[in-house]
Amino acid sequence: MENQRVGVIGGGQLAWMMAQEAPDLNLDLVIQTPSPDDPAVALACDRVFAAIDDASATAELAKTCGVITFENEFVDLDALKILEDQGVCFRPSISTLQPLLDKYDQRCYLQKIGLPVPSFQSFNLSQPLPFEYPFVLKARRHGYDGQGTSVIKGADDLARLSPQILGNKWLIEEFIPFERELAIMAARSVTGEIVFYPVVETQQVNQVCHWVMVPASISSDLQRKIEDYTRLLLTELNAIGIFGIEFFLTASGDVLINEIAPRTHNSGHYTLDACNISQFALQLQAVTGQSLKQPLLQCQQAVMVNLLGYENAEGDYAEKRAKLAEIPQAFVHWYNKTESRIGRKLGHVTVLINHLDHQNQRQNLLSIIQKIEFIWYSTPEGDRENSKQL
Ligand code: ADP
Repeated sequence: MENQRVGVIGGGQLAWMMAQEAPDLNLDLVIQTPSPDDPAVALACDRVFAAIDDASATAELAKTCGVITFENEFVDLDALKILEDQGVCFRPSISTLQPLLDKYDQRCYLQKIGLPVPSFQSFNLSQPLPFEYPFVLKARRHGYDGQGTSVIKGADDLARLSPQILGNKWLIEEFIPFERELAIMAARSVTGEIVFYPVVETQQVNQVCHWVMVPASISSDLQRKIEDYTRLLLTELNAIGIFGIEFFLTASGDVLINEIAPRTHNSGHYTLDACNISQFALQLQAVTGQSLKQPLLQCQQAVMVNLLGYENAEGDYAEKRAKLAEIPQAFVHWYNKTESRIGRKLGHVTVLINHLDHQNQRQNLLSIIQKIEFIWYSTPEGDRENSKQL
């Protein structure tokens, strides 16, 4: 039987990891991506080179693909809606994506369905400030990896950002002095079946994810509460596919939703090596109408550390990657990007842990993370402190 063709809008590292999983599921991936240098180009079965928001290119993609899914959401939703009305199958559907792509709309939607979020408003410079400093300003669309999100600590910060605020739509929200950040990946099938991965703890530095620890050390009540919120959300959205949901855990033990990604997510990269099914395979199962495998962690714990660019350069960092691969139970993933830029995600490492020292669980995981970061960020000039600021 011929492989089924799945169209993917986006050709970055998420599509690259999805393309690695496609053959096992008898699927051929066809990607829409702007540049022949993008990570997924080499692995895809076919490609349409065009901007992500070029809906005529998506119409081209749809000619040979029974279903189209997403690796990023910088799309022109109105134009895709017209294609959907003409019979193109998007999973998740355009009506599922509608309330999610704009951060302000997303907050309004979550509030409407009764899920907890930080206090927020839409924002422009002519209105009085609704929150005391510090507060958080976010570009309503096209933010990623902290681009477009700023913690405003005082009037100087606001003045510095003002030129950007003028030309765009913004969201303002209260600063949450969270204890920890948590996230969950969950998938929903065509028949409404929902499966969850374990809740993870994530750490962002200057709004960029540096590491993920799994499972998060939280009570089973909290795991259940997060699953309940996620189930409600995916059901209300009539979602098909995989979703990443990020939370703030407050000092009083409450959780607030920070953000929903209607696709695979950095906080789920560990699933490639640590679970019986990866988030990428699960997305493909969901969008092609298959029933979903129940995800299971296949080790006691795992950590995932992002390899972020710490200089503007070209290079494959082979020596550092070889050192990282020597760590017991380490899996190094390198996205083959031709250029390193400061803060750019170039790869990640996952380390599986099976021998738990229950006394010092978190400390042990932190020491593995530190070891990885030391190998990756230490430079011949010893310029590690700058790299830590990424
Ligand atoms: P992006 O879409 O670029 O990932 P997010 O809105 O998820 O941006 O924010 C990135 C990070 O910024 C969060 O993971 C968190 O560390 C910090 N952050 C965002 N919103 C708030 C907030 N209201 N209070 C405190 N920190 C926040």
